[in-house]
Amino acid sequence: MQVDEALVRQVVTQVLAEVSGAPATTATSYTGRRGVFEDVNQAAAAAREAFLQLSERTVEDRRTIIQHIRRIAIDQRVELGTMEMEETKIGRLEHKIEKLKALGEMTPGVEFLRSEVFSGDHGLAVIEHAPFGVIGAITPVTHSLPTITGNAISMIAAGNTLIVNPHPNGKRVAAEGVRRYNDAIYRELGIDNVICVVAEPTLESAAAIFQHPDVAIICVTGGPAVARAALNSGKRAIVAGPGNPPVVVDETADLNRAAHSIIQGAAYDNNLLCIAEKEVFVVDKVFDRMLQAMQHTGAVQLNTQQIDQLTQAAIVQVGEEDRRHAAPSRELLGQDAAVLARAAGAQVNERTELLFGETDESHPFVSVEQMMPFIPFVRCRDVDQAIDRAKHYEHGFRHTSIIHSNNVRHMTRMGRLMDTTLFVKNGPSFSALGVGGEGYISYSIATPTGEGVTTPLTFTRERRCSLIDDLCILGRPEK
Ligand code: NAD
Repeated sequence: MQVDEALVRQVVTQVLAEVSGAPATTATSYTGRRGVFEDVNQAAAAAREAFLQLSERTVEDRRTIIQHIRRIAIDQRVELGTMEMEETKIGRLEHKIEKLKALGEMTPGVEFLRSEVFSGDHGLAVIEHAPFGVIGAITPVTHSLPTITGNAISMIAAGNTLIVNPHPNGKRVAAEGVRRYNDAIYRELGIDNVICVVAEPTLESAAAIFQHPDVAIICVTGGPAVARAALNSGKRAIVAGPGNPPVVVDETADLNRAAHSIIQGAAYDNNLLCIAEKEVFVVDKVFDRMLQAMQHTGAVQLNTQQIDQLTQAAIVQVGEEDRRHAAPSRELLGQDAAVLARAAGAQVNERTELLFGETDESHPFVSVEQMMPFIPFVRCRDVDQAIDRAKHYEHGFRHTSIIHSNNVRHMTRMGRLMDTTLFVKNGPSFSALGVGGEGYISYSIATPTGEGVTTPLTFTRERRCSLIDDLCILGRPEK
């Protein structure tokens, strides 16, 4: 006798749904999986089912779903942040916890949706923002669950569901977070698998998502390789790519404020953020005073010999032939300043947040996106040279740049030349994401593809609804 497995699964899940008190009518063939899948095809099918169910619901239901994601990210941040720290072994625990709270609280939701109207002699045209369907998301090891949390809130607010291929080194916390989010959503709304995650992610599973016919668009957050792969995928891609954010300090800057800002931004989560300060170009006139300000503010300066020793351990060569390039070593990426200091042959207080030192511009810590709490300071003749070097070492990523200055002309020149998605003046890099600055947060800042700090509207397609000659009620005389 042939057994219809899907039918059996559906009956069983309906019974289970009834027992658990959730609305049985919404049980589907993948109900009960809570979004965790080994197989991309199953994950895509489940996300598609969830999308069809979500399409039948109100915007208020989307708000409820998002509320559950926010609540879990905030209330369970210590447990989930600790899990992320223990699994990835990079960054700082307090910031892993804080990042979940910030994304839970500040990621824009359904309130960001809007419609536009054209009203005139020929009637009305209403432009509404519709979901794409299932979105394929690739997330980085630097913020595994935080990126999923922010992506899920924005994408679901817009009416989509998503399937995530997390970084393999952050896969367990990704699956556990997704399981918790789906469980709460299912219990209240009876829709499972709104967020799906590949439990054993590989480059092959990422490629399968890129190629899957049920995946409408992709959103990748990561370094150059995944950015390239997404842009070559044949699908519409929203790409949150790499950065190497330079800082310029000119002779008009408030040096203490600059030092505070650089330490706050560059030391955050041990410099894992794509927006974090990576190298500093200071005009000669205030160079020595700037280094003193860094010391007074708690950063520890390394001498030339210590920087050389650190560089030996921290920067390695990777890739083959013409793709061979310098990269941060796995052993030191995202490690504490005290660990870097030991690698440099120095001893510092375990609570030291940031190391720094003078280098020339050709130093690998200037050109490599190193993601470590050691920041090179480069002496520049004047502000023009500092800005030109900042432009050069940002590598055209058009991601983030920062200036400390009270000269509006210098700010303007740098802003124009850099052409970066984020341009911060007189604050730490993260203030550009609404943390101590204005605006809103996302951990997917779409740089090469130009969508900027992603919001729910990023994940929508425009639809126009036209009514000809009627319902413009502003008084055109009847013919
Ligand atoms: P990574 O590029 O090593 O990995 C990112 C993700 O892409 C992972 O899930 C990885 O498995 C996947 N991946 C890598 N190569 C791939 C390929 N060829 N095909 C398909 N998938 C592939 O980056 P990471 O170390 O996890 O994260 C740090 C990088 O991400 C930095 O370069 C940082 O600037 C960038 N980042 C950017 C943003 C942004 O908003 N622009 C945010 C966070 C991180």
